[in-house]
Formats: sequence, C-alpha cells, structure tokens
Amino acid sequence: MKAVTFQGIGEVAFESVPDPQIEQPTDVIVRNRLTAICGSDLHVYLGREPGNDRGTTMGHEFLGEVVELGGDVSSLKRGDTIVSPFTTNCGSCFYCRQGLTCRCEKGQLYGWVENGHGLPGAQAEFVRVPLADSTAFKIPGGVDEETALFLGDILATGFFCAEMASVRPGGTYAVIGCGPVGLLAIVGARERGAERVFAIDRVPERLVLAAAFGATPVDTTEQDAKTLLGDATEGRGADGVLEVVGTPEASRLAVELVRPGGVISAVGVHTESTFSFSPGEVYDKNLTYRAGRCPARRYMERLLPLVRGGKYDLGAIVSHRLPLAEGARGYELFEKKLEQCTKVVLRP
Ligand code: NAD
Ligand code: ZN
Ligand code: ZN
Repeated sequence: MKAVTFQGIGEVAFESVPDPQIEQPTDVIVRNRLTAICGSDLHVYLGREPGNDRGTTMGHEFLGEVVELGGDVSSLKRGDTIVSPFTTNCGSCFYCRQGLTCRCEKGQLYGWVENGHGLPGAQAEFVRVPLADSTAFKIPGGVDEETALFLGDILATGFFCAEMASVRPGGTYAVIGCGPVGLLAIVGARERGAERVFAIDRVPERLVLAAAFGATPVDTTEQDAKTLLGDATEGRGADGVLEVVGTPEASRLAVELVRPGGVISAVGVHTESTFSFSPGEVYDKNLTYRAGRCPARRYMERLLPLVRGGKYDLGAIVSHRLPLAEGARGYELFEKKLEQCTKVVLRP
C-alpha cells in the first residue's frame, strides 16, 4: 500500500510500505477514507521529538472502514465505519478504568516506531487498529465524516483542555494558540459556559475562525494580551488559561495572563526540559498547572452530538483537502502556514 512516511527532519515521503496484517486476535484492519495532519505530527516532522524510525508511517487521525477482523473482536464487523483515538487502549487496566485511556498499560501511539517497536501511523491506505473492541469508535450513518474525524483527537483534546482548565459559566478565559486544537478548545470553553474567551495568536485567518467560534481575537503582533485581559477583569487576569501551543513562550505568557488562584491547562506538547516560569511565580499566584495527553476515547460518545448538531461549523477549520499522494506538500503547507493553511485532510 501507499503511505506518508517519516524520512528525517523536515522530510516525509509518499511511498510503498507493506500492507498491515492482523497480528493479534484483538486487531482490526481499516481502509482509510480520511486521514489528517496534526500539530503533533509537526513535532516529529521538525525533529523536536527525536527517535521515530526512518520509514515509519506518520499520523494518528483517521476515519475508515473495517475490512478485516481478528478472531476475538466482537463489537465490530466488516463494513463498519470507525474513528480511533490517537492512542489505543485496553479498556480494563488501572488507567482505562479511571478514564485515563491515554495512559493505558497496553496503549500505543499511532505513528511512533522506535528501534523497530511501536505502531505504524494512519496517513496510509490501511491501518492496523490494536485492541479494537475498546479502542475503535463506531460512527453511525448520516454523520459528516470530515467532522467525525475530529473526534479521535482535536475535538476531544479541545474539550479536555477546557475541562482541565475548570472552565465555568461566567468566567473569563484565554486560549493561547488558535491552531485546530486551540480553535476547538474555544468551542469546549464556550460549551462549558465561558462568558468571555480571548483567543491569542498571530495568524490572521486563524483569528478569524476563533472569532467565528465566539472568541475575542487577540493578534499578538498588534495587541497586548495582558492589557486586554486585565481590562476585562478589573485587573485580575484570566480565570483559566488554555495553552495550546507547547513552547516556552506560550507557557510564559500563560503565567502572565492567569489571575491569582487560576488554572493553566496545557495540552500543547512540550519538548523542552525545563519550565519557563519559576516555582516562586506559581507560589505567588497560587496557581494550578495541569497538562498532558488527551484521553480521547473517553470523549468520543459524548462529543458525537456536537458533530451531528451543526451548532458550530467545525468543518470550517479544514483549509486543505489533498490526495494522500500530496502528503509531503500538506506537511509543508501546514508547517509554514502557507496558503492560509489551518488543517489538512488527506484522502487515500
Ligand atoms: P498548530 O501548530 O497548527 O497550532 C499552534 C498555533 O499556535 C499556531 O496557530 C501558532 O501560530 C500559534 N502560536 C505559536 N506560538 C504562539 C505564541 N507564543 N502565542 C500565541 N500563539 C502562538 O497545531 P495544533 O494542531 O492546533 O496543535 C497545537 C498543540 O497541541 C501542539 O503542540 C500539538 O502537539 C498539541 N496537541 C496535544 C494533544 C494532547 O493530547 N495534549 C493532542 C493534539 C495536539
Ligand atoms: Zn494529534
Ligand atoms: Zn488499559
């Protein structure tokens, strides 16, 4: 089959790789109809997360049709349309029982293979889904597939970020970073009743989308976020900051924007080795800092009505629909934000 594979820093290739096979009786094989490029793929692509074997199939966002099943799979059948969270989960270990499916004792991240061990990714014609009964989420008929694709990662992560930030009705919040995840974190905050959400970025077209989702856009090339947040809160700052970038600058800004007693919720993937703020700053503001990978599987049923509902035009974040063969171009557009690129969906 054909797949988009990691070749080295800043380089992916569209090439032939072996077809995935059923390896465990709990596996299924899925023929992808849609797959997407995530901000997390960029950490690998740009070498910020080193260690992925050359030739590994990239990607972890996909929607497709079950074409082959292992003997122990009981809840799925050939022809079912499924979406998978970006990590697999067994559904019964200590972490899965608590809903922390992203830290499943048997869990694997799609698109990460190190020294020959790991799980190939989903930017391919086919993908193997391990632990399929507890991992895969069946999509009913009549649902817009491009939006349903978001359930496995970016929509779930946006809501997880808002939940970790303890967003409450009436509060004032800041979302740092208006990529696809930040935009859906705005939706998450709004759905939890946030009164005001300031959306911070420096990319005009992303700020336009943030405004369409009900946020107040703040362009850091022209405006000072701290002043705006202060003016809106009698000088206190944000009740919570949703940090959806994953850089030292973004962490630093989060500490500056949050009010004493507030929460910083970081879903941006951080690859630096130290914090860009001090324990003293956390102490002096009585801050709570929460971070981590989204247990996406826990959110999928709950968010299906939002995908179906049409209350938000979630599909508006997709700027580019490309054939899988143009995956390398998709990475370049998304990374460099060329042609107003916000989200790339690839069609195998
Ligand atoms: P993205 O790269 O498209 O979005 C990042 C956005 O942040 C861009 O719009 C960029 O202009 C903006 N930005 C950069 N520096 C900034 C700054 N200092 N201040 C304000 N804005 C700034 O990526 P994405 O797909 O939206 O993903 C965002 C982050 O979320 C990535 O780090 C990704 O790895 C992470 N992520 C985490 C999880 C999880 O489970 N925790 C899941 C999915 C994605
Ligand atoms: Zn992702
Ligand atoms: Zn588990």
